[in-house]
Order: sequence, then C-alpha cells, then structure tokens
Amino acid sequence: MPCRSSEELDGLVREAKKVTKHGKVANYIPALQKGNRDDLSVAIYHADGTCLSAGDIEQKITLQSISKVLSLALALMDCGEECVFNKVGYEPTGDPFNSIIKLETNHSRKPLNPMINAGALAVTHLIKGVNVEERLERLISFIRDLAGHNVITYSLEVAQSEFETAFLNRSLCYYMKQDGIIDEDVEDLLDLYTKQCAIEMDCLDLARIGLVFAMNGFDPVREKQIIPVEVARLCKTFMVTCGMYNASGEFAIRVGIPAKSGVSGGIMGAVRNRFGIGIFGPALDEKGNSIGGIEFLEMLSKRYELSIF
Ligand code: GLU
Repeated sequence: MPCRSSEELDGLVREAKKVTKHGKVANYIPALQKGNRDDLSVAIYHADGTCLSAGDIEQKITLQSISKVLSLALALMDCGEECVFNKVGYEPTGDPFNSIIKLETNHSRKPLNPMINAGALAVTHLIKGVNVEERLERLISFIRDLAGHNVITYSLEVAQSEFETAFLNRSLCYYMKQDGIIDEDVEDLLDLYTKQCAIEMDCLDLARIGLVFAMNGFDPVREKQIIPVEVARLCKTFMVTCGMYNASGEFAIRVGIPAKSGVSGGIMGAVRNRFGIGIFGPALDEKGNSIGGIEFLEMLSKRYELSIF
C-alpha cells in the first residue's frame, strides 16, 4: 500500500523541497505574492478514510485554476454535456493558460478546452443561479459537499486583488461575448470567476476532493455519490490532457497521475480507486506549476508505480 507512513511522506517532501529554490511565487495577482517560496505541504487521503500529511498543513491556499475542474463538474451537472461542449472544446493547447491567440485563429471561435482561462470563463458562465451571489453560493456548497465540511469560503482579499487586475481575462470575455459564447455582463462574470478562483482550503480538503475524483465521483467516507461517474470521468480526462497547463504532456510522461494545478502553487491529484492528493508549494516553474509539487509527485509515482500509462 503506497505511502502509509508519515516518516516516509516527510522524507519525500524534504527531498522535493530542495528544488523550490529554483521556482518563483506568482505575482501577476498581487495578493499571491505573499506566498513563501520555501513552503511545501502535502496531504494524502486514502479511500478507507485515513490520511497522512507533511509540512504546514493548516495553511490555506486559494484554488485558482484547480477550481476549473470543480466548476466544470458543476456546469456539466447543471446543463449537461451537449450544452457545455457547445461553448468549449475538448482539445489541449500548447499555449499558456491565459493566451488569447486561439480565440481569434481557431475557426470555431470556441475556447479550446475548459482548463485554459477562456474555457473556464465560458464554463463558469453556465453555472446556474439568478445572480452572481446565488451562482457562487451553489458552487461553494458543491465544494463543501466534496470536501465533506461546511467551513469552506473564499478570500475576499485575493478575489479583489485579481478582479482589479484581470485585464487579460476581461479581454478574453469580450472576445467571447463578440462571438456569442457568453452573453452575460462581463463584470458579473469576472466577479463570479475571481471569487471562484479565490475559494480557499487546506491540503487535506484538496486531497479529500481529489479522493472523490479518484473514486469516480463517490465519497467513500460518507458513502455518497456526489458527482455522476460520467462527469467525474470527463473531468479526470481533462486533468490528464490539460490539467498542468502547457506542461501536461511532460507531466503525463514523468508522473502519469490525473492532476490539476493552480498559480497559487496548489495541485490536486487523483490516484484511481486508491487516494487523493493535495499539495501546496507556491514556488512555480516557468509553466506556472508548483516546482516542488511536481518533484514530489514524480518521486511518489515512480516509487509506487502510480502512472496510469
Ligand atoms: N485566477 C487565475 C487566472 O484566471 C487562475 C490562473 C491559474 O491558476 O492558472 O488568471
């Protein structure tokens, strides 16, 4: 059984931490600059309900791009596959997560996939509710259900910091509004999206949510199907093909675990039928992934042969 001892997990995290000095903390969202480059914490949540952790596990992180998997699951549950993939495609892109170029050059005008910013904005647009507050409340309750407790909320400071500086995401929205992909007020959509990205939790919560994906939408702790199997399968497929930005191909080769990262330095991983992984390490590599987090996952995957390939 992989990684059942805290000493072993501590050892892997200590080893992985050595590379954090080569990374940089994200600064394009001003509030994220406060992250400490040397931090690395990891939690593993097993299907039998037992957990292991290493590092400062109390520390909260904002989900940033990890939230894209969760909004995709909710939008698929709200509107169905046909409606979602009418707005967004299935294909990975070799471009950075916030690139605008394919919105102009791709003949269908749809964002290429739900894990890049344009695609995620189009997906968030589909979350049902009469106004931004109700849509956010629905997303947060869904995430609370996935994490198995009620205290999850969002960081107003991080949301505001991103809202005030989200010029590129505004541009993506205006392109998509021009092309009829979205039809709501751009400021409303950005308000919802930046709050979604600023939803906060610790690594244990992240690992617990990863476990639900690992179990195909089933929460083994409360014995409850939270996400339909087909929706969980779709989300995990996007985690494999596009979850680690434009480094997803290399990650599939080096690690081979369905995972999603965010610019806050978080990574959520799902090891099929076995466990969920939550990582926080704010030092990022040049593609925007947690450098220590990837190092840890590569060591874990090789040691226990966790690659799905
Ligand atoms: N809120 C960030 C943005 O939209 C998320 C990006 C990320 O984590 O990759 O730019």
